[in-house]
Amino acid sequence: MLNIALFGPPGAGKGTQSAYLVERFNLIYISTGEMLRREMGAGTQLGEQARGIIAAGGLVSDEIIVQIIEKTITENPDASGFLFDGFPRTFVQAYILDGLMIKLNTSLNCLINLHIPEDISVSRLLRRGETSGRLDDNETVIRNRLREYHEKTVPVLQFYRDKGQHHDIDGTRPVEEVRDDIIRILEKELEKNLFNLVLFGYPGSGRGSQGFAIAEKFGLEYIATGSMIHEEIDNNTAIGREVTEMYQTGELVPDEIVVRLIEKRLANPKGARGFIFKGIPRTLVQSYILDSLLRKHGSGISKIINLDVPVLELVRRLDARSHTDRRMPYDASTGNIVKRLKEHETKTIPVINKYRQHREVVTIDGTGTFEQVFERLSAVVEAGMHTSR
Ligand code: AMP
Repeated sequence: MLNIALFGPPGAGKGTQSAYLVERFNLIYISTGEMLRREMGAGTQLGEQARGIIAAGGLVSDEIIVQIIEKTITENPDASGFLFDGFPRTFVQAYILDGLMIKLNTSLNCLINLHIPEDISVSRLLRRGETSGRLDDNETVIRNRLREYHEKTVPVLQFYRDKGQHHDIDGTRPVEEVRDDIIRILEKELEKNLFNLVLFGYPGSGRGSQGFAIAEKFGLEYIATGSMIHEEIDNNTAIGREVTEMYQTGELVPDEIVVRLIEKRLANPKGARGFIFKGIPRTLVQSYILDSLLRKHGSGISKIINLDVPVLELVRRLDARSHTDRRMPYDASTGNIVKRLKEHETKTIPVINKYRQHREVVTIDGTGTFEQVFERLSAVVEAGMHTSR
């Protein structure tokens, strides 16, 4: 995840910058000020409680703020990150933010402080007041907002300074220059995150050979449960002996075994920038297992890709492969090929559909030459590595 707080006095440009960053890095935008204005617009009890304080340029109570923030955060459990604008504004809110992040098993990456001198803040807000329609963009209230900022909000900076989690940016420069500085900071933060790709596709769609090549190109670790099981069989381990028959007939190996294998690999990563999972999750149960294993490592699935190849073409490819020495034991006969296609359809397609309900699954055309498919895949992975994950 990528969780960022934009900090600075009123008029520093937090809202302007947020609009772009939210799009570019695929973040959920949390502006407490905007949420409060929505509550006021809708005439809710919360909104009515806040109205007088906002009109006077004061800070709304931490109690109200925690309620509106918690709602948005818990409504977006699969978010790839949050951008906070106007929060935390008090010391107490900094602790609230910490607590919320812990609940999501994540943390704030950093706080970016856009600093501008007071006279610029005032002149920008007065100009905005001509068109914003905001009841707090007038000179008296602006002065109060700035006083509140200095008294209650500036100390929050120290909280993040002490943790080595803050960046200062000169907010008086043109929007694009400020934006480029922020982007540089966020891209550096992203590099610290793992990029985890799940590659789906029917047997014969090329997910194995493509996945392996993509892992090489982008410095990712390739995790293919099929090959791991194969290795266990080759080494004649206890697991290997248990699963030999299922493996050869194309049946799915029990989840208990798959979990153990994956757990072992995740616990001993090879220093890669992330993982490519091929052949897992194959069942709904495995999708829960993978989510929780990744979460245990403070990570999650960053991108899901489905390689799409028409059934006739799949059969043609698998049949062709069965006549070569690249033949896998499970595609040695037509019966086994059909069985594997069926397994995918009945067990794995529901997993893809489950993901589709709450996140994007990118479909990539898997027909054409290896290079053509590789290029399509590379483009999606490349773009994915530059957005939040
Ligand atoms: P903003 O849109 O961020 O400038 O906020 C407008 C007004 O909403 C502020 O002056 C405060 O009265 C109130 N407000 C917004 N966010 C907070 C917050 N995190 N804590 C307390 N009051 C807030």
